[in-house]
Amino acid sequence: MSQDIVTHCPYCALQCGMTLRRTADLVQVLPRNFPTNRGGLCQKGWTAAELLDHPDRLTTPLLRDRPGGTLRPASWPEALDRVVTGIRRIQSAYGRDAVAVFGGGGLTNEKAYALGKFARVALGTRNIDYNGRFCMSSAAAAGMRAFGVDRGLPFPLADLGTADTLLLVGANVAETMPPLVRYLVEQRERGGTLIVVDPRATATARQATLHLQPTPGTDLAVANALLHIALAEGLVDKDYVAARTSGFDQVRRVTAGYWPARAERLSGVPVADLEAAARALGTADRAIILTARGAEQHAKGVDTVTAFVNLALALGLPGRPGSGYGCLTGQGNGQGGREHGQKADQLPGYRRIDDPAARAHVAGVWGVDPTLLPGPGVSAYELLDALGTDGGPKGLLVFGSNPVVSAPRAGRVTDRLRDLDLLVVADFVRSETAEIADVVLPTAQWAEEDGTMTNLEGRVLRRRALRPPPPGVRTDLALLADLAERLEHVDGTTLDRSRFPAAPEQVFAELRQASAGGTADYAGITWARIDAEDGVFWPCPDEAGPGTPRLFADGFPTPDGRARFLPVEHRPPAEEVCPDYPVYLTTGRVLAQYQSGAQTRRVDALRRAAPNAFVELHPDLAARLGVEDGDEVLVTSRRGEMRAPARLTPTIRPDTVFAPFHWAGAARINSVTSDALDPVSRMPEFKVCAVQVRKAPVD
Ligand code: SF4
Repeated sequence: MSQDIVTHCPYCALQCGMTLRRTADLVQVLPRNFPTNRGGLCQKGWTAAELLDHPDRLTTPLLRDRPGGTLRPASWPEALDRVVTGIRRIQSAYGRDAVAVFGGGGLTNEKAYALGKFARVALGTRNIDYNGRFCMSSAAAAGMRAFGVDRGLPFPLADLGTADTLLLVGANVAETMPPLVRYLVEQRERGGTLIVVDPRATATARQATLHLQPTPGTDLAVANALLHIALAEGLVDKDYVAARTSGFDQVRRVTAGYWPARAERLSGVPVADLEAAARALGTADRAIILTARGAEQHAKGVDTVTAFVNLALALGLPGRPGSGYGCLTGQGNGQGGREHGQKADQLPGYRRIDDPAARAHVAGVWGVDPTLLPGPGVSAYELLDALGTDGGPKGLLVFGSNPVVSAPRAGRVTDRLRDLDLLVVADFVRSETAEIADVVLPTAQWAEEDGTMTNLEGRVLRRRALRPPPPGVRTDLALLADLAERLEHVDGTTLDRSRFPAAPEQVFAELRQASAGGTADYAGITWARIDAEDGVFWPCPDEAGPGTPRLFADGFPTPDGRARFLPVEHRPPAEEVCPDYPVYLTTGRVLAQYQSGAQTRRVDALRRAAPNAFVELHPDLAARLGVEDGDEVLVTSRRGEMRAPARLTPTIRPDTVFAPFHWAGAARINSVTSDALDPVSRMPEFKVCAVQVRKAPVD
């Protein structure tokens, strides 16, 4: 006898459709035809079930009795008592904000919602943020200020296959979302032009019609130059600009300074390539511009994305059939994770936490006085960097994240985490962050609980439970309910478990009410509709009405209905190369690993495919450094050092090295990365810093 359930991959934002088949002794992944993956899966999806019965799986809480001691197994009552006692002690000594919460972009919508509510109502703290701040917060902020809404793709993914010209900026989809590549193949088979902007000739860039290979940190200059050329060659859609936008004159004045020869000096991209790219975009009937982490993870990430949005608006793309601007969200619930209130500045429905009307609406759903809800907190890195300091949080609860590996300047972040009076980690394996926790709470995996995810298109999907969690393991929602009923809430109430339901469908029903009328409106979405329609696009305010696969056809959700141009200027990265640190470092992902690697490093096939970190460098640079392929090298910045084997390749610029961020210990590249933050999104500058590279001494 076998049992099948229809679900989605536990990893990235493509949320590929899959069927899980359970037989007597096996759980098997089968690919499923779904609009985003059309039956394809990458290696991570194929092997996703391996973790369900993995020997590293946690099935009991763990406690550390004293600093420096080891983690030991404990019962749930003992572990929960330890957490609650610790929270009470810290909050009575330092105030409610002294306990913080750190969430994740892989949590289901229900968990993201419950976590935000738990922080504001049960803990009464303003200090909550999540790892999505490290992922695509710059594109989110740029989208909000230009369009009045942030939905990764404001059109279905399938539109990519029909674009005459497709511009990908800092997106290596061939490694991060392989099933998406079939849309690129389809696009080129129809005669389309694919342009990729990336400092590396990645697997994606190698498929491009035209590859622009700028110096790291200069994408903004490239975008402004493309708009300069479009203006000079009469490619701007003047009717669209006049009818549907505001602010173009200022942008025209700024981009006048980005003549192609200057842009070539700034970015290293040849004038001829800039001109070819501008013409391919400006003459296409259907053109799409997409950004991803390469454009966004900068101290000027919001402005860089804005420059590409300006280009898209000037060409009249957003809202035009088969055209537009979009951001390729990365984490599994990168979209939903940023809509339901686990961000420092947000309430559910993508509402601002400092908006009195939003506070009143959400407080009404939560049954509390709006004046009792905390105000905005600080962003993820600022929160982590304040831990254990004077005036900073003394306790932290981590859900769905592994900041010891994934945070920038990770050495300092790890020290801060160690300085806490109480570190609680909810996870299903002993991640590097769990290893230094005081309490580790074992949680269910994706195939053991129901819930919804919102993919990179804004399509709300169902994840389904194949089986219950193993004995000793609880779902995150049950865990939050367990804690909430033991704490004194912000309004002085206690022991009201009904306020924090553990049943995901009940949480989703409440989320719908809380999101009603907000930017990300889920009020009309039910689980039954998701099942019947294979996903529903938000906004969907009415159960009787359709979802919204395409945005902006009739206008933009701004006060005047127009999209907003904003003038933006190129500026250097926070850290430039110098004699002591003469090489740029950029970081990213590899096909067989995911995020901090806590999950995928434990999967045999993935570990065999990508066993170690590496440092990619150009043969010319390697020759200057006396480094040969396979030599161990040290990469050092002003913040720390990383060690890994050299991988020589002519596909990277000679002034730049690359390292993936999935590994821990000596191979942790985030020991080196920069903690410079974007002033708007507070996104750290993962994508560029200055380093020195040298051959490691032989041990
Ligand atoms: Fe999973 Fe993403 Fe791979 Fe699809 S592309 S199988 S969603 S990791």
